[in-house]
Amino acid sequence: MADSVSTIFQEGVQQLGLTLSEAQYAQILIYRQELLEWNTRFNLTAITEPEEVLLKHFLDSLSLLSTYDHPQTQLLDIGTGAGFPGLVLKIVRPQWQVALLESTGKKVTFLQYVIEILHLDGIEVLYGRAEEYAHKAQYRGHFDLVTARAVSSLANLLEYGAPYCRVGGSLIFPKKGDLTQELAQGQRAAALVGATLVADQSVTLPGLTDGRRLLVWKQQKPCPAQFPRSGAVMAKRPLGIE
Ligand code: SAM
Repeated sequence: MADSVSTIFQEGVQQLGLTLSEAQYAQILIYRQELLEWNTRFNLTAITEPEEVLLKHFLDSLSLLSTYDHPQTQLLDIGTGAGFPGLVLKIVRPQWQVALLESTGKKVTFLQYVIEILHLDGIEVLYGRAEEYAHKAQYRGHFDLVTARAVSSLANLLEYGAPYCRVGGSLIFPKKGDLTQELAQGQRAAALVGATLVADQSVTLPGLTDGRRLLVWKQQKPCPAQFPRSGAVMAKRPLGIE
């Protein structure tokens, strides 16, 4: 029997109010197959059970569309790893211009391979560190939407992400667990980089019932030129510490 997506995954897609074409489902399956195959040689994901990959990586990535969905968007996904959420969003929103930023070479090689076999265009992979690309003029204040999943604390993500975001644009960081302290620190950091929290949306979908949330921030003014600081300074003096 040909590989197919599970009913549970399709239910999740429906709950998100999304309609995917057969071709998009096929692209997701090819992507999953390559992820699992490459994962036997390189460490790309700790999740290896195929159904769990579909829910915890693919459906979870799609959940961002419950809080942000525009026809045309310039998206930057920081620390995309094997492409979550940025590459999944590109599959279902092919008209978006997407940049995937990743500092690990083997992950960049994997991303370029998947982009090629899925025949995606309007997507580029940036190999390097978020705190370095952010000071290049062509990326500064350039993106409508900045995402980062499972990369760092909210304060660090705001320092990485705000410089890339245009005024009026959005930053969305999926998180789970108790965020009381992290969120308070994140809000103080946000004030320094010109962003404010505009939504804290919980995500409950089939297979995703472990307290996931989407923290949505709006870039209110240009991020001051001093940010992001170097990785060493960020580690030593994180933003938003009281
Ligand atoms: N976002 C993916 C996901 O949710 O599956 C990957 C998460 S993985 C735990 C974190 C990724 O961020 C790693 O691939 C790492 O190489 C990348 N990363 C961490 N710090 C980074 C930085 N400063 N700039 C670019 N990439 C970074």
